[in-house]
Amino acid sequence: MTENDSQWFTERCREGGSAFSLMIREKLHDEQSEYQRIEVYATETFGNLMVIDGFVMLTARDNFLYHEMMSHPALFMHPAPRKVVIIGGGDCGTLREILKHEEVAHVLQVDIDERVTRIAEQHFPELCVSNDDPRAEFFFVDGIQWMHDASDASIDVIIVDSTDPIGPAEGLFTEAFYRDCYRVLGERGVLVQQSESPLYHMYIINPMRKAMQRAGFSDVQTLFFPQPVYPSGWWSATLAGKQALAPAFREQAAKDKPFPTEYYNADIHHAALTAPEFFTKALE
Ligand code: SAM
Repeated sequence: MTENDSQWFTERCREGGSAFSLMIREKLHDEQSEYQRIEVYATETFGNLMVIDGFVMLTARDNFLYHEMMSHPALFMHPAPRKVVIIGGGDCGTLREILKHEEVAHVLQVDIDERVTRIAEQHFPELCVSNDDPRAEFFFVDGIQWMHDASDASIDVIIVDSTDPIGPAEGLFTEAFYRDCYRVLGERGVLVQQSESPLYHMYIINPMRKAMQRAGFSDVQTLFFPQPVYPSGWWSATLAGKQALAPAFREQAAKDKPFPTEYYNADIHHAALTAPEFFTKALE
């Protein structure tokens, strides 16, 4: 296929004044679920691509960056992560990474839209390889309400793997939601949430950090990592600990991890938590 024959999927990012395109072979799926429009494309060079409401969610080629960084830093910063909740994460990539940790006994995945998971099973089977693990449990309900109803001090790690803060995910970026997370976490509990691009979205990251602090979290830190298919190619996740996070890092366990990763290791862990100059200044 020459470039002229090919079709392109383009996501425009208004706030960044930029766009990202992938050369596509064919559209594999297109549906309007009860909550959102879900599309899947076969691309020329990035494998399958999932798009929700026009925004790139993931590709087969580079999702390992995001999914590993959403999972392993938080899990290695909890002394004994046994019970983990994923809010969102319907594509099951984060679930797969969490289940690599043998000490995790139970993972509850709470995504509002069952269709995302069913479509992932069909078009991203490599992300769903652990869905039948007896430690995994699926709830297809609103994560905000689920957290509101959850028992006090019942969870070790909460991972918010959501869409951008619009539509059903808007309430996942609020102090009220973080207060529920704080209550539901045990005393060494850790929350991590995808927090958009450090280059484009300081107006989301900064208020998110402040809201987490107001909700009671004593230590808030941002992780930086590349994500080529998201706006600006540079992404972040924000960690919030009920207690200091750095001293809780099980560094030797991260060095000796008995499972494979493609990006995460103990050195990446330290590097990803190192804030760039502009970032520190913007928080002042
Ligand atoms: N990595 C992706 C990104 O940052 O673009 C996120 C992927 S994952 C597919 C996002 C999921 O969040 C979707 O499956 C969507 O259904 C889910 N979601 C959005 N709002 C939600 C809510 N209030 N409760 C639970 N899940 C929600």
